[in-house]
Amino acid sequence: MMRKEAFAKKSLGQNFLIDRTVIRRIHEAVDPEPADLVFEIGPGRGALTDGLVASGAKIIAIELDRELVPLLREQFAESSNFSVIEANALTVDFHELIEKTSPGKTAKLAANLPYYISTAILQRLIEQRECFSQMVLMFQREVVDRIAAKPGDSERGFLSVLCEAFLRVEKLFDVPPEAFKPRPKIWSSVVRLVPIESEVQDAEAFRRIVSASFSQRRKTILNNLRPVVPNAAAVLEHAGIDPSRRAETISKDEWLRLLGAIPGR
Ligand code: SAM
Repeated sequence: MMRKEAFAKKSLGQNFLIDRTVIRRIHEAVDPEPADLVFEIGPGRGALTDGLVASGAKIIAIELDRELVPLLREQFAESSNFSVIEANALTVDFHELIEKTSPGKTAKLAANLPYYISTAILQRLIEQRECFSQMVLMFQREVVDRIAAKPGDSERGFLSVLCEAFLRVEKLFDVPPEAFKPRPKIWSSVVRLVPIESEVQDAEAFRRIVSASFSQRRKTILNNLRPVVPNAAAVLEHAGIDPSRRAETISKDEWLRLLGAIPGR
């Protein structure tokens, strides 16, 4: 045990779950059924994987640490419903993986994510959201609070708007540092993300406009939009948005109106 802990790689965000109650609550949230396909990102030493495999669902784990991959293969050698891919989850094409392994299926996703990739992975998962019926993810608490922030909340930012446009966000519970080994300095939270039918027509334009609007948080929406939207003042007026407002106060409906008011959209 001492030996194993000494090998936790800080650079890969390795804080392994040891709290049985937290593990059980994550399993309950994922709710794997025998007919399900479940992806797990970053299985580590299998703390979550064990219960997922025991459910009988088809589990495909994606682990970047090449030293952990053979250990996982050994640990689950008897389980024909388990496989692990050595890969970076940030570059995995989930559409392709599903086509190869379970054509036509929508998958569930479970992950206790390394903190350093949380924003990047979230953007990737949003891009590939059609692949998933739901995602149960653990992030640092601050990231979950940002994702779940409503218009006017100080934590509201680019990620909150992006998530609100494409997902139903349900914060499930907080997890203290003692639930992990080695212990992180910060609290974590578990969140359920369910892809929704989005009203956004052009996801790339939406991402660009929202990102530009938050580029300098202390500036008004008009000043942030000016460099990227011709006649920004007229566009905001047309969308019924006061140009002196800040991006964090804008609601989902207003973002949609703003996109619709930009000529050529
Ligand atoms: N799921 C395990 C648990 O709960 O104990 C491990 C969680 S640990 C916070 C994060 C895991 O993600 C580590 O096993 C780490 O090697 C892996 N990881 C880090 N970056 C990754 C990436 N880009 N793609 C896939 N796995 C990654």
